[in-house]
Amino acid sequence: MKLTFEEYQARQIVRVHRHVDGPWFWTRYSAHPYVGCRSGCSFCYLRSADYLGKRNPDTFDTLIQVKTNVVEQLHAELSRLPRDVLACGDWQQPAETRYRLSRRMLEVALELAFPVFVVERSPLLERDLDLLAAIGRRTWACVVISFSNLSPQLKDAFEPRSPGLRRRLRCMERLASAGILVGASLMPIIPFVGDDEAHLDEAIRMTAAHGGSFVLGAGMSMSGAQATLTWEAAARLDPRLPERWRTLYGEEPDGTPRSSAPREHQARLGRQVRDLCERHGLHSRMPRYVPAGPLAVNRWIAEQLFLKCWELDLELASPSRVWAYRKAAWTVDALPHSVADIHRRTRAGLQQLPDVDDAVARDIEHWLAEWPAQSRQRVRAVGPAAFGPLFESSTENP
Ligand code: SF4
Repeated sequence: MKLTFEEYQARQIVRVHRHVDGPWFWTRYSAHPYVGCRSGCSFCYLRSADYLGKRNPDTFDTLIQVKTNVVEQLHAELSRLPRDVLACGDWQQPAETRYRLSRRMLEVALELAFPVFVVERSPLLERDLDLLAAIGRRTWACVVISFSNLSPQLKDAFEPRSPGLRRRLRCMERLASAGILVGASLMPIIPFVGDDEAHLDEAIRMTAAHGGSFVLGAGMSMSGAQATLTWEAAARLDPRLPERWRTLYGEEPDGTPRSSAPREHQARLGRQVRDLCERHGLHSRMPRYVPAGPLAVNRWIAEQLFLKCWELDLELASPSRVWAYRKAAWTVDALPHSVADIHRRTRAGLQQLPDVDDAVARDIEHWLAEWPAQSRQRVRAVGPAAFGPLFESSTENP
């Protein structure tokens, strides 16, 4: 299959997200150097128009667009932004071996003291372990090594050209040995063939054995070209599988399969991953980066609110209840003043915040009482072992 590189100058590099994506990766910004990926995994959501724009999705794995100005542009854009977690890079081969743009993006993050988050299937990331460790020492670095499961048969079916699974685990081990906070992302968990206890247990056990601290898992959503390729791959693997998926996903009014499985399925997966993580001594959420300073308490309280959304989702609580906590998390995260100060002045102050009802205010009050101990404990134990809000050693955050 012929591979073509197309170089171009991007007008904007950094995507600024309105809210952090808690309780998942907690990132505020994202910036990536390439569009398209040689691995061409069938389930890859980057085939969607959100990422490819007007490009033909069939060219996703044969045409790699390269943002040749990514480094200079990243430097210019980050220099104007408040410091927060940046999801960056893309270590796919052969693009990154040829252009080394992801490495140079890490150099920019290090220079400007931006905390970094990386989610990656390519073990080429190991090459830049020195920079990740340096960023971790200066601010914060967290890496998530991504795989759906550790079955060679399922890899061959859905992601035949992606890097080897054992190499990914070795990469995880090397990062962890260098003191970098690292975990695994089981995404997507493939329905019926990859979501049983044996597959999940193996992936989580091996993450623990290779130095990972946490595992995040999520089901498979499908739309457009991604859906077509994934259903075709499923049919090649087991001709009965598409019909089982069709029953699980249900149909839109026009007869096409829905893009996501029902909430009950997602919650069951979440509970399975959480319980298996507990069995193997891992966390089922990743910690949020919380820089020191007067707003540290807001970040931590918002983290607790997002985590509460997650727990409520796993329990299949009413969507309105989940929504109440999510909106409150957004509110607290955006406050320009310390939520602890607001509460100190008057308890009613919490309820006067937008989108904070009585029940949510009671939870915030409870967490505020825990905050002094939490902050002291976490300041003392920086690094993967702390596994909580991690603090900068200085207060250089703007
Ligand atoms: S390696 Fe990652 S980015 Fe590339 S196609 Fe697979 S899932 Fe998508």
